[in-house]
Amino acid sequence: MWATPWPARLIILILEAAVTLLAATALLHGHPTHGDFDRFALLVALSAGYAEAGDRVERLRHYLAASTGTWASPVAVWCFAAALTLPAGWAGLFVVVLYGHRLVREHRHQTGHPHRLIFTAATVVLATLAASTLNTAAIPSRGVLAVGLPGAIGVLAALLAYMAINQSLVSTVVYIVTRPANWRTGMLTGDDLALELATLVLGVLTAEALLHSPLMTPLVLVLLVVIHRSSLVRRLQHGATTDAKTGLLNAAGWRQLAQRQLRRVQRGRNGAAVLMIDLDHFKKLNDTYGHLAGDTVLRAVADTLARELRGHDAVGRFGGEEFVVFLDGIAPATALTICTRLNSHIRELRFDDVRQVTASIGLANYPADGRHLDDLIEAADVAMYRAKARGRDQTQRADAAITP
Ligand code: GH3
Ligand code: MG
Ligand code: MG
Repeated sequence: MWATPWPARLIILILEAAVTLLAATALLHGHPTHGDFDRFALLVALSAGYAEAGDRVERLRHYLAASTGTWASPVAVWCFAAALTLPAGWAGLFVVVLYGHRLVREHRHQTGHPHRLIFTAATVVLATLAASTLNTAAIPSRGVLAVGLPGAIGVLAALLAYMAINQSLVSTVVYIVTRPANWRTGMLTGDDLALELATLVLGVLTAEALLHSPLMTPLVLVLLVVIHRSSLVRRLQHGATTDAKTGLLNAAGWRQLAQRQLRRVQRGRNGAAVLMIDLDHFKKLNDTYGHLAGDTVLRAVADTLARELRGHDAVGRFGGEEFVVFLDGIAPATALTICTRLNSHIRELRFDDVRQVTASIGLANYPADGRHLDDLIEAADVAMYRAKARGRDQTQRADAAITP
């Protein structure tokens, strides 16, 4: 906690204090009915049961989240159901109970960081209070959900508020703490948002079941397990094709995507290009400034490539200080312009200690320099070595005859 930068620490402390105050006030003003107590108890039982039963999956999830950043949490289903069926203060109390249980479990397994969990709990309490307030504003009496159009709008508003509050607070703090070179790093991906949305929609169904047929609520568990298991499979796939150091594709992942894109290009009349990018004198850079500085440079170059190229371009780290790019639907002249631009963007990178970083790029065009991926890689590699031989910090095309 005390190692986090002060703006983040300030935000965290203010938020935690404000949320505690808000939740306590809401709790004093809530007048729970017998039905509320029943629902509270049922939600506690379900969430605790899910947590204990899914312990192994949960720990794998935790491990993966640590290496790939933030991740939509399955507990949102219970928190959002609480927001829709309990008085605001009691929904907040439920979140506290839920995260308290989690804190105890993590302590048992000695995983996780308590201060992170407490901050997350605070954001979830806030999201739950806001969702509950918006929802109750739209319905005439408690104990029902989504009566007519205003009710439906209330539920929708609650859902949007829950997502917005949660994501914006978590992203802000993750951004401040990790200070990624690329601002998108701390953000949830489309997949994560879809998972979060599905979880909240499941929360709406849980709320409906809690209010009208409480015995049906355990059925929600089936859906929750299936949804989050399949997202876990996607995570594992992602992990198997991603380079952990830079977040780019790894060699296997790049080959898979480039092969797929090349097949599409082969069906049409467009060109394509393979770029082999190797950093210059990287061994010397490591020897002079150390391996950690070297890693910082690798990440900065990776971010530059990701930023300068289109979202769907296959950008990978082939190994060591070597990057590889597949550009589809591109003419040779355009590809050369892009390479030259990459050369200058890499040259213009600034670091605290490292003086200058340059790269040698080999460019091979489809179909002129090869029709198969391996031929294109080979041609780009040969061109890259020619760029090295001709003084580095430049691009060479595979076809030497037309190289300026
Ligand atoms: P050239 O200009 O001819 O490419 O020279 P170079 O020194 O870049 O080429 P060489 O292939 O001899 O050296 C690559 C170096 O990259 C050697 C290795 O220590 C370093 N390296 C490989 N992977 C990593 C990594 O993940 N992190 C760091 N910091 N260094 C790495
Ligand atoms: Mg090198
Ligand atoms: Mg190399």
